[in-house]
Amino acid sequence: MKSPLMILAAAILSATVPATSGRAQPPDGKADRPNVVVIFCDDMGYGDLGCFGQTRYATPNLDRMAAEGARFTDFYVSSAVCSASRAALLTGAYHERVGIQGALGPKTKVGLSHDETTMAEMFKSAGYATGMAGKWHLGYRPSQAPVHHGFDEFLGLPYSGDMWPHHPERPEGYPKLPLIEGDQPAIADVTAEIQKTLTSRFADRAVDFIKRHKDEPFFFYLAPNMPHVPLFVRDENAGRSGAGLYGDVIREIDDAVGAILSTLRAEGLDERTLVVFTSDNGPWLSYGDHGGSAGPLREGKGTSYEGGVRVPFVARWPGKVPAGLVQRQPAATIDLLPTFAAMIGGHPPALPIDGLDVRPLLFGEPDARSPHEALFFYYGDGELQAMRSGPWKLLFPHATRTMNGQAPGGGGVPGKYRPLAVGLELYDLDADLGETHNLAADRPEVVAQLQGMADSMRARLGDRLTKADGPEIRPAATAAD
Ligand code: MG
Repeated sequence: MKSPLMILAAAILSATVPATSGRAQPPDGKADRPNVVVIFCDDMGYGDLGCFGQTRYATPNLDRMAAEGARFTDFYVSSAVCSASRAALLTGAYHERVGIQGALGPKTKVGLSHDETTMAEMFKSAGYATGMAGKWHLGYRPSQAPVHHGFDEFLGLPYSGDMWPHHPERPEGYPKLPLIEGDQPAIADVTAEIQKTLTSRFADRAVDFIKRHKDEPFFFYLAPNMPHVPLFVRDENAGRSGAGLYGDVIREIDDAVGAILSTLRAEGLDERTLVVFTSDNGPWLSYGDHGGSAGPLREGKGTSYEGGVRVPFVARWPGKVPAGLVQRQPAATIDLLPTFAAMIGGHPPALPIDGLDVRPLLFGEPDARSPHEALFFYYGDGELQAMRSGPWKLLFPHATRTMNGQAPGGGGVPGKYRPLAVGLELYDLDADLGETHNLAADRPEVVAQLQGMADSMRARLGDRLTKADGPEIRPAATAAD
């Protein structure tokens, strides 16, 4: 039994011993809430990293990050194109649900609705500092900028780096490309010389943000506009990979990851920060040597085959995410927002979303299973093109594109896709990762089971291919002018 003196001594000690960190305590007492850094590349393919099988060039920082954390082999985006994919990441909902399709251009009035709760708003309402650097692509008007969707600060591009007056095929189609700070142009006309600096400029902002907010919980979203064409690296990094400009670009992204991880280590934040790294869609294959690799997967960006929608995913949080974990259960970008919300005790969005808490997968809990009965892949103007359930991938009849048999692009100029008619196609991804052997005729019972799940989704989010309305679709924002 403790004596009154011991109890008094303990009370004095607990009142006077300083906390081990200067971090402000959140009002609800959740002292161990992690910081979160999300790194979301543009058009990086499934096979572009050493830890996902790339051998032509090195990605030492990402490989180390995977060795110290987790690698998800079956991680998906919502759609194989930029804006749609970003809308899904940031809302935790299929892009189709929040009304954002395709890749928004400089002339559109469409942007992410302010009725949606973004990942940044979820963190912000939980008391986090929030920042972003890189490509936004969810509305380019000032009122549609990230700083009006929950980010305290933003440095980046409003849309893709090829939507500029130097486009290799449509130079007359685009206005000057601005670099935005907050919601206003910091540089009105991004030149090629400035493009060369963007990857490191955005990484520098991430490092600076982490240092400024080391004493409070923070969320940073780094969205490099690379390796989306046009490709650029700093002059001193040209030729560094030994594998052409594309390899040089990936090395520079790898450097950015290394800079963030070393900053976290130097600031003593390693064990209280979750870092995740992934991509918005598969490689842009028509660009040949300026496009990435889908590795063993079929097709790439702009298709709903695995090469379009399955992306590399690496997560690191020492002490929480087991080192060397290889997670083969399916998960998706839509799961990150609800997972983070559960992790920090934040409020999930009030409006319905599609993502689910995947902490058991991330933390490597024994026998953890994907919480999704199925994942669905909409593309274009509301077409439900494909779905994944267990080992099964089902594609519905639709028109897509392929580079098979076509002359490849090169040097930053794309080759020409040819149309490809997709039939009703069923693949067993456990046995046939490359989607080469259509089992639809052999396994009608599997097709029927998955069709039933698809019909349930069609009743909610519609489907242009089967002319189903989507009563649960929410409208995007449209600027007034
Ligand atoms: Mg993209």
